[in-house]
Amino acid sequence: MSITDKDIPQIEKLKELISKSRNVVITCHLSPDGDALGSSLGLKHVLSCLGIECRVITPDCPPQSLSFLPGYNDVMPLSRYETLVRSHVNRADLIFCLDYNELKRVDRLAPYIEASPARKIMIDHHLHPATEGFDVQISHPEISSTCALLYKVICAMGLDEYITKDAAECIYTGMMTDTGNFSYNSNDPDLYLAISDLLERGIDKDQIYRQAMNVRSENSIRLNSYALLEKLEVFPEYHAALICITRDEANRFGYKKGDTEGLVNVPLSIPGVVYSCYLRDEEDYVKVSMRSVGDFPVNKLCKEHFGGGGHLNAAGGEFHDGDMHKCAELFKSLMPENLSLITKE
Ligand code: 5GP
Ligand code: MN
Repeated sequence: MSITDKDIPQIEKLKELISKSRNVVITCHLSPDGDALGSSLGLKHVLSCLGIECRVITPDCPPQSLSFLPGYNDVMPLSRYETLVRSHVNRADLIFCLDYNELKRVDRLAPYIEASPARKIMIDHHLHPATEGFDVQISHPEISSTCALLYKVICAMGLDEYITKDAAECIYTGMMTDTGNFSYNSNDPDLYLAISDLLERGIDKDQIYRQAMNVRSENSIRLNSYALLEKLEVFPEYHAALICITRDEANRFGYKKGDTEGLVNVPLSIPGVVYSCYLRDEEDYVKVSMRSVGDFPVNKLCKEHFGGGGHLNAAGGEFHDGDMHKCAELFKSLMPENLSLITKE
């Protein structure tokens, strides 16, 4: 999958806007993951080489598990630096919106971005991109990560000489985490050409894997084990699985953000299970996380019933109409009708 003719004018425009900009703000979605933060920091490293003042601003704090990313300590979460963030966003001449398709995904940061006079650039790979509000929009839902798309955009702008080792580490991280270490959405040959180039720039992919995907606290291992032993429900007749972790249960294991990353994927290893749902208490709602295999559209399910969205095989949403029990009941009540979405192989 490549950048097409339709992107060329957008890329030219972007190149020109970058050349005229002095203050750039780069933003990514709430609860930044490896792709969101990797693309943001990767772009920051590239633009910094051009002498551009660049700030990575996130709606909330990025997870500790990504602290190995070069530039992590300079990330400015709105939740911590409200006044400073507001002033940076206000005086930016260019704002990048990376790895999200609509401003809703940056939560409380959205009104600041909207109010800023800066030009807005979306580079993203989620379905259904917003149709207005952006001066440049490069949206490719068929590309597995924003980092993979960003790499192509940087090369198409002729800025590849500025992909330093630091930038390469950040960009590789998103390519890896959004494909589960190249175990899904990962059949694009271009991806491996890009990786080969990033390796030439000095990254240690095995070390990045260990740091990003293979570090877990004891609490996290125990919480995940508990979830699978005691809380996993499998519905073979509906090809579905469900895991619910309440706030009390999470607290018992000293839950920290990211501790159950990947948990929702585990039930998909069971033959016959086509989609999996994980529910977790947030401050004032239930967070819904879903994964699927094949062409079962969890994004449709999340959009229609949980106010969310995402990708065909990885999506999420929020439930605001009651407690976790009620949310689980809703999920279960949808299972019979979801059978029609399952294609027999
Ligand atoms: P996760 O399950 O890792 O939180 O999210 C998986 C994917 O689902 C994300 O990359 C994002 O595309 C999508 N997603 C998760 N939560 C939400 C949400 O609340 N709203 C929307 N629109 N998408 C979400
Ligand atoms: Mn992504």
